[in-house]
Amino acid sequence: MLYLDIKRRIILYHFLLVLLLVGGIGYHQYKYQLQSHINSVIQYHLASSSSIVSKFSQAISGANYANIQMPGFITELKRNKKLYAMRVVGFSGNTKQPFKVLYKQLAGEIWREEYPENYLSDIQSKIDKLQELLLKKNSDHVKIVFLIERNQEKFQRYQKNQLLSENNRKLIDSFKKLKATFIDFKTKKLFISIPTDNKNGGRVQISFDISEIENIKLQILENILYESILALTLSLIILTILSMQITSPINKLSAFISQNHKEHNLSDVPCIKRKDEIGNLAKMLYSLLEQSKNYENQLEKLSRKDPLTGLGNRRELESVFVNIQQTEKMLTAIFYIDIDNFKKYNDCYGHNMGDLALQKVASSIEGSLQRKGDCAFRLGGEEFVVLISVFDIEQMENIGERIRHNIQNLEIEHKLNPPQNVVTISIGAYFKKLNSEKKTIKFLVEMLNSADQNLYLAKKRGRNCIITSQLKND
Ligand code: GH3
Ligand code: MG
Ligand code: MG
Repeated sequence: MLYLDIKRRIILYHFLLVLLLVGGIGYHQYKYQLQSHINSVIQYHLASSSSIVSKFSQAISGANYANIQMPGFITELKRNKKLYAMRVVGFSGNTKQPFKVLYKQLAGEIWREEYPENYLSDIQSKIDKLQELLLKKNSDHVKIVFLIERNQEKFQRYQKNQLLSENNRKLIDSFKKLKATFIDFKTKKLFISIPTDNKNGGRVQISFDISEIENIKLQILENILYESILALTLSLIILTILSMQITSPINKLSAFISQNHKEHNLSDVPCIKRKDEIGNLAKMLYSLLEQSKNYENQLEKLSRKDPLTGLGNRRELESVFVNIQQTEKMLTAIFYIDIDNFKKYNDCYGHNMGDLALQKVASSIEGSLQRKGDCAFRLGGEEFVVLISVFDIEQMENIGERIRHNIQNLEIEHKLNPPQNVVTISIGAYFKKLNSEKKTIKFLVEMLNSADQNLYLAKKRGRNCIITSQLKND
């Protein structure tokens, strides 16, 4: 699955939320604005139709088709550019006969939609009768010819109207179905139906062209789009600020944590001055690191200490040796110290007493060292090492002798260590002038080995003494 970090997730989720809100609000805004525009279009057309309705209402009352078809009437309808078609349905005031006329702007004509069933045959029989009369000698020929022509005109008009109705069947059907105001979005036509204002009842149905609604729709959509883009841009700006305030500090903290533990500098913990949750997190991190550094230091110290005597161990000796500081004239001396016949001491007085003796010897050795920088270590068993800086061999031997003497003066009973019968030590001493290249563990080992050889000689000489020498090639 695609992994997104917190920053990207915050941006994505908020962006989707804003998109959802903008989409929802935009959709409702679109619907609302379109509907209110449609309502105003309807109101406008209803108002503009009132004079037409009143004129047609009067015409219906008189069932005066001829009046309706007058050019002045048609010119007035033509003036209304938005008018597409019209149908008037009603009853004449006198005869109560149905009255239906149609008008279509493109045709530019008003025509009668329906005729009585025997309308055509009546005209035909009238024409036939008039033609018979025309054959009679004493009839008024001029009048008869006029009447024949009028009826023939009616006949032609009937045929023309029937054809017009036939060609506009769909339009007539739409009007027939129309009960209330209706919009056909497919053809972009508004149909309204208004009751006639005469006593006989009836309706004036008008269809208006509302193709401008498409432009309005586009206009509304364009406005909503601009608003949405603005909202999304603003939200992105806010999100960027938010991310800078939240995710960037978290990233800084995590980058700090992922550093090598030894490189952690507590004064560099980021965001520590912030007063919010991230600041709290930084403070907690600070105290955790501080604690861990303290534990580390304690552990480090413990790992360099001999638990029985409290002296430094071999690790500590190595560390002190490589960091030794002394002037050029000074010599570095090592005493390899071993308790004499200590196995027998343990055998004679027990291991616990042996441990106690070890502690006493350790503190005596340490107490014999007076200068800062001189150190004693326990290498293991009953063996100790002393590391000191001296000006000459004499000084070194004096210190060694002091150490040996102080141990003997402790007067720890040791029957099996004749002739003193107290605990004594033998010392193998060795010294060397150190330069920075020699301050290495390898050279320490060499010095220890040399001191150990002298210790061996001291044991051989009868114990409780100090043997000193220097490397042959020095
Ligand atoms: P030498 O004079 O030749 O050094 O004889 P030694 O008996 O001292 O030497 P050896 O190496 O034979 O014996 C060392 C003894 O030190 C063995 C052991 O009983 C004792 N020892 C070593 N470590 C400890 C310790 O931690 N506590 C006690 N009580 N005894 C220890
Ligand atoms: Mg030993
Ligand atoms: Mg020993």
